[in-house]
Amino acid sequence: PDRTDITYFGAGPALLPTDVLEKAAQALLNFNNTGLGIAEHSHRSQHATDIINQAKADLASYLDIPDDYDVLFMSGGGTGEFSATVYNLVGAWVTKKKLEILQQLGVTNEADANQDELVSALKKAVDSELKLDYLVTGGWSLKAYQEAGRLLGPEFVNLATDSRTINNGKFGKIPEESSWKLSKAPAFVYYCDNETVDGVEFPKFPESLAPQADGSGPIVVADMSSNILSRRFPVKNFSVVFFGAQKNLGSTGVTVVVIKKSLLAPACPQPSPSLLRKIGLPIPPVVFTYETIAKNNSLYNTLSIFDVYIAGQVLKKLLNTYPDKVDGQEAVANAKSALIYNALEAHPNVYKIVPDKSVRSRMNICFRVTVNGETDKAESEFLKKGTELGLTGLKGHRSVGGIRASNYNSITPDGAKKLAQFLNDFATNA
Ligand code: PLP
Repeated sequence: PDRTDITYFGAGPALLPTDVLEKAAQALLNFNNTGLGIAEHSHRSQHATDIINQAKADLASYLDIPDDYDVLFMSGGGTGEFSATVYNLVGAWVTKKKLEILQQLGVTNEADANQDELVSALKKAVDSELKLDYLVTGGWSLKAYQEAGRLLGPEFVNLATDSRTINNGKFGKIPEESSWKLSKAPAFVYYCDNETVDGVEFPKFPESLAPQADGSGPIVVADMSSNILSRRFPVKNFSVVFFGAQKNLGSTGVTVVVIKKSLLAPACPQPSPSLLRKIGLPIPPVVFTYETIAKNNSLYNTLSIFDVYIAGQVLKKLLNTYPDKVDGQEAVANAKSALIYNALEAHPNVYKIVPDKSVRSRMNICFRVTVNGETDKAESEFLKKGTELGLTGLKGHRSVGGIRASNYNSITPDGAKKLAQFLNDFATNA
């Protein structure tokens, strides 16, 4: 088949716009008439810097990212960020705590402090106060929570909420905010805005994490790998937002980190490796150190400029398509997901939507198919018939089974319509 015959609902990597790929194919052979392809140019070339700067500017424009945030392109995927967020924000916590202790010791300069006294006070603070809060609402936040425990030790990681406790051991709901057990002053509160495997999306920014009128509030970290660029979010409420490119932004190979500059040097330099060693905390690998990546405009080491180029082209296309930027794409994403959910709801005898209605994802639509009391057989039949119609990638994640229609930005309204029509036809003929 040709790619025009297929509407691909896979969870990621996702479809890329054909015109972007055609342009990229040309750029791979000969970028801007330089005779060299985009993947062959040095990451130290002006071309690379220009591509990075343009992609950063376009992302900032599309999402309204304020000037006091930086955008980093990194390697290591979303999974790498499960670790990087821990290293970097624990580092920021240590730096702030160190300043507090120096103040208590009555010195302004670290070199003037009694080093044994400083280290012992800091170690005591780490042991008694350091906490990382995780909201576990699906498979990906669970992985991030487990990684934090693996790196630091479980005693430092607080499971502030776990959806499975209110849903018979399964994900699919988000517990009431009033039930969350947040720590007093955590190094951060972490959540996954859209759980790709479980089809659960936070309907909006959690009120209990919102900043106070004076701007103070918890340090919030969010994984937006699977819903970035599909809706507006209050950037100012976050300290770090990260996302892999491979769903709504571009090709697999770069991960984007949007970070508040006040968490980076010079405002908040990372503690030295020797200090971390003395207080028993892990030392971050240099490629995962935001400070180093930021200082080098994402070119500390060889970055896949091709992947940044693709992301840049997708952003240009979004900006050209939607004069009102992310709001325009959000309206389209909402309409597409409503169309699909409505088709599912119209046939409750055949389709059962997995997550609770209040937290249904607009991006990953998870459901079960049952005909004559049989689910496995009906789902095989559903997948087979869908594939015959060019509707592919609909198989659910291997850990949960069922059907998952990933409704990323590259699914056109027409593609969503085709799926809705198929849902109707399949149920009517069942
Ligand atoms: N976070 C979310 C929400 C995801 O959907 C995924 C992958 O699908 C990841 C993290 C992990 O990303 P990666 O495979 O790039 O490490």
